[in-house]
Amino acid sequence: MNCLENSEGDILEEITLPERRGILGSKTYKSINGKILKTTRMNFCDNCGFMLDLNKPVVICSTCGKKLCSSHCCTFEYQRRHYCQECVQQLLPLNIDGFRVLRCILAEVEPGKARKFGHMTHESYKQALSELLEAGYIERRGVSLLRSHKFLDKGLLAFHTYERAYSQDPTVKHFESELSDYLRGR
Ligand SMILES: [Zn+2]
Ligand SMILES: [Zn+2]
Repeated sequence: MNCLENSEGDILEEITLPERRGILGSKTYKSINGKILKTTRMNFCDNCGFMLDLNKPVVICSTCGKKLCSSHCCTFEYQRRHYCQECVQQLLPLNIDGFRVLRCILAEVEPGKARKFGHMTHESYKQALSELLEAGYIERRGVSLLRSHKFLDKGLLAFHTYERAYSQDPTVKHFESELSDYLRGR
């Protein structure tokens, strides 16, 4: 808190508060019993809470208007627009389990390996696989034992949309190292 006196002798009080969601910055001046209260609101990322550096790119979600820092975990680019994680998940849903399964299919590894490398339960693997099929990210080819899964363009798009964010996740890092050990030994 900062107190100083102006030429008329009024006490100016200055306070700094965090800015509200979706607003990029504001200053207010209020006169209370001859005292002027100046409030400056600072910008923080509406997702991670980190203070925004306005000299760096600040992203406004195209759907909800949240202000976001440029971290790969806070902003997502889809069809040349930027979104927050919640809004991009509405447009192009993909969770970490689905991401691991998709990663195996892209690497031409049998998707069931995602269970082993990603330490997934049988149920979460089945769920992820059916969500990917339903979203039109992958398709089944062949029958029974010769059945294989192929990724589709939309799956590739979803994979790349989340790749930078999910790669920061420690469980995904571990999964990636198990997968690359497997690919090397193949
Ligand atoms: Zn952020
Ligand atoms: Zn949003």
